[in-house]
Amino acid sequence: MAVSESKQVNLDALNKAIDEVIYGELNSTLLYYFQSCVNCKACEAACPFVPTSLKYSPVNKAEISRQLYRYRFSVWGKTIGRVIGGSKKYLSLEEAETMVDYVWHCTNCGACMFVCPMAIDSGAMIDLLKQIAFKAGMVPKIYEDIANLEISGEYLNTKLFMDAWNSIISKIKEAIGKDVPLDKKGSEILFYVSIYEIMAYPEVIIKVAKILDMLNKDWTFMSKPLGIRPPIGLVIGDKEGAIEVMNRVYSYFREISPKYVLLTAGGFEYPSLKYTMHETLQVQPTYEVVHVTELLAKWYEEGEFTINPVDEIITWHDPCQLGRRGGVFEAPRILMKALSKKFKELPSHGVNSFCCSRGGGGCGVPTMVENMAKELGITIDEKDKKFLDSTLDPLINAGKIKVNEINKIKAKQVLTGCPVCIESIGFSIDYYHSNSQVKHIIDLLADRIQVKR
Ligand code: SF4
Ligand code: SF4
Repeated sequence: MAVSESKQVNLDALNKAIDEVIYGELNSTLLYYFQSCVNCKACEAACPFVPTSLKYSPVNKAEISRQLYRYRFSVWGKTIGRVIGGSKKYLSLEEAETMVDYVWHCTNCGACMFVCPMAIDSGAMIDLLKQIAFKAGMVPKIYEDIANLEISGEYLNTKLFMDAWNSIISKIKEAIGKDVPLDKKGSEILFYVSIYEIMAYPEVIIKVAKILDMLNKDWTFMSKPLGIRPPIGLVIGDKEGAIEVMNRVYSYFREISPKYVLLTAGGFEYPSLKYTMHETLQVQPTYEVVHVTELLAKWYEEGEFTINPVDEIITWHDPCQLGRRGGVFEAPRILMKALSKKFKELPSHGVNSFCCSRGGGGCGVPTMVENMAKELGITIDEKDKKFLDSTLDPLINAGKIKVNEINKIKAKQVLTGCPVCIESIGFSIDYYHSNSQVKHIIDLLADRIQVKR
């Protein structure tokens, strides 16, 4: 069953969505992307979805938005293009189904932009299609239901989430041997986590709190979460929903008014909360949003602690959103080199790091998404099941490339800084029976920090 059938998508809704997004979102950067492709196909090599099928090549996926753009804005598209093709006013429902398939086969990882001779960000054009799909009601129900829990604030009434939240506060209290500082205004560091992180890696959160306490930092934690993984709307193409959530997050950040907002997650939340939130709300942050590796590398270089190294080959996987989209490459490497003299780079690293194929593309490992839905009481219908199953092949195919890279350098431990990368690379390591392990860098680092007294 197709998305359009189950959700009774009609062409009027689809056409309206296309007009709203293509006319409403066009800006000078997108205009450049639309106009400058030389069709060289260099972008294909970088995309984690191409090993699954060539139809998922960046230039091919973005072509749908180009066709819609040309019909409205290019001279060729308004004339000959309308007759010979390559320029389209609207999409048939069948074409829209292809569009939906394409948008969930893009993580917006930015890898294609770095190999494109014209520096075209196909992910940005594919994101327009995601916004169209959302407005036309063509989002997989499972993700829409989870996003709605966040946007409506209902996540605060969800037992599963609140139990996990309250439990993490108790565990931190136990670990540091005193009350957890909560919602303390004017603290130097706001230790920000979402529900997703406390469910993905509670031990990492506890270890970060212990490090902050050990280093005698002035920090605070949130008494209540600000969302499931705010702003989920940005991942499912719901810009308006994302704005509601970003307003909630921003007002809390303003209320606490820290110097640093510290994140353990280097997935899409990093560039979203550091850049997109302030650009969208047109506000100037009075604080700096930092990944935990950035603060720890700074304190390490300032001599606040030393690191007791391990004697084994370790490597760093650059999460796309922390690295390419967020610009954080150096800080984790300062820590990695201190952690092991045998630190080795993966064959693809830095700006060319090969994406793990999750995040915005299918969002998570299918079985884990299904388990979460089950625990939340969200029904997975036949269509959602089919959708989740369709996200498995890219995980397997991209995972093979990642695991081969890990095996090639014989890394015992792959460290990274994004919960989704840990989940997906962990899946691949198991699937291909590699004898490596993937962890958050904090997992290894926390026990090897020695504070100078
Ligand atoms: S690499 Fe750039 S110019 Fe070449 S096909 Fe891809 S988007 Fe077009
Ligand atoms: S942004 Fe990443 S996933 Fe999306 S088309 Fe480009 S390389 Fe592929």
